[in-house]
Amino acid sequence: MLSLPNIPVSNNPRIIVIGAGFAGLRLVRSLVKRNFQVVLIDRNNYHQFQPLYYQVATSGLEPSSIAFPLRKLFQGIPDFHFRMAELERVDVENNQIQTSIGTLGYDILVLALGAVTNYFGNKEIEANSLAMKSVSQAIQLRNILLENYEEALNLPVEADQEGIMNIVVVGGGPTGVELAGSIADMKKFVFPSDYPELDFTRMKIFILEAADRLLAPMSDFASKRATSYLIKMGVTVKTGAAVEGYDGATITLNTGEKIASRTVLWAAGVKVPDIPGLENASRGRGGRIVVDRFNRLSPHKNIYVIGDQAIMTEDAFPQGHPQVAQPAIQQARLLAHNLLRSKKNLEMVPFTYHDKGSMATVGRNKAVVDIGHLHIGGFIAWLIWILVHLMAIVGTKNRFFIFINWAWNYLTYDQSLRLIIRSAAPRIPQVMV
Ligand SMILES: Cc1cc2nc3c(=O)[nH]c(=O)nc-3n(C[C@H](O)[C@H](O)[C@H](O)COP(=O)(O)OP(=O)(O)OC[C@H]3O[C@@H](n4cnc5c(N)ncnc54)[C@H](O)[C@@H]3O)c2cc1C
Repeated sequence: MLSLPNIPVSNNPRIIVIGAGFAGLRLVRSLVKRNFQVVLIDRNNYHQFQPLYYQVATSGLEPSSIAFPLRKLFQGIPDFHFRMAELERVDVENNQIQTSIGTLGYDILVLALGAVTNYFGNKEIEANSLAMKSVSQAIQLRNILLENYEEALNLPVEADQEGIMNIVVVGGGPTGVELAGSIADMKKFVFPSDYPELDFTRMKIFILEAADRLLAPMSDFASKRATSYLIKMGVTVKTGAAVEGYDGATITLNTGEKIASRTVLWAAGVKVPDIPGLENASRGRGGRIVVDRFNRLSPHKNIYVIGDQAIMTEDAFPQGHPQVAQPAIQQARLLAHNLLRSKKNLEMVPFTYHDKGSMATVGRNKAVVDIGHLHIGGFIAWLIWILVHLMAIVGTKNRFFIFINWAWNYLTYDQSLRLIIRSAAPRIPQVMV
């Protein structure tokens, strides 16, 4: 068996897990110390807590609070190896993967690569808008939000400020709603004190959704409640509004309407990218890889796909499970159990998704929660949202710092992490007056 340098051959079967998101991390945590050699590969050396990216983007949390170093999690664990690398190809014939750092053979391969931003083939939108699918993109968003107002101060003509002050969020799912609400809170509580020379009545926040309502996967109650919260917070909500183009200055809708904005945040969908070597795999909606009820990629007996990257149907979910954290975690947990069972020659157990509900926060004291037939809004929902997210974050230190940050922000009405941190020269051009 070919090996990456320094990954020893073990007496235990080798499982390679690619992706240390919710699915991959849960799986690895359940498999280490269980007579497998576990090799975890991720392009980053940290796990990212995606539900809180928007708080990094809006200066509410430090990036380090929502990212956790993988090596720290697995310190001292025998027969476990982590490599920071990019998956490049799966060679199913030879049971090998090719990565940016070399080739490695596997006995069992688990793909948990998640999804990427979907621009639906529109290159212009991809080039000009901002996405939020990594901590670094969240930091980039924070920089640009803040740089815009630094730049607006230098513009001589008030009319020129319009595009620079407007923010457009495309996509009315939980991410779009949370971003729009959080920016609206900044417009109310933070920006006017930071930039007293700017007139923030000129700043408009839009949320655009192609479907006929926000939070389409949630209940009608949640959708209506979130919409009314956003409108009260000064956000312009446009549903049935599909974006056709964005040239970096003006966004064009299917209705012909145009909105001037230098900052467009694209949260309109995700897709699963192709993996060389797996061209023959069946694909579902959004390119998700079709798996059976054991997360197995047929016809291969030793390749599994879990989390956002996979699509599995069951009677209650004929379109597949939602691409959220719970299916990823539950699939990983069951796959670990099944791999241990099959080692003992026991039959695998088919997956059944237990929907624990869904939620979205809109702003200070405002959230919506659906749990079965129970629909909650307002302060109670907001407390539930806080509790669930605090419990889900990896690491006691992260949990503690997030709690302190949230408490501080709540009491002071201030998001204090408004730093523009960049590696290159400032984006703000010299203005000739
Ligand atoms: C902004 C945002 C907000 C969200 N909010 C919520 C929420 O409130 N509640 C909720 O339940 N869900 C939420 N989700 C969805 C949730 O985060 C995903 O469903 C979940 O992360 C899926 O887990 P996963 O393990 O399948 O993939 P991911 O968590 O995306 O992990 C994939 C991993 O694979 C790695 N990787 C990818 N490609 C490669 C490669 N080629 N080589 C090596 N490594 C690679 C990545 O670095 C990453 O670590 C949100 C998502 C986003 C983007």
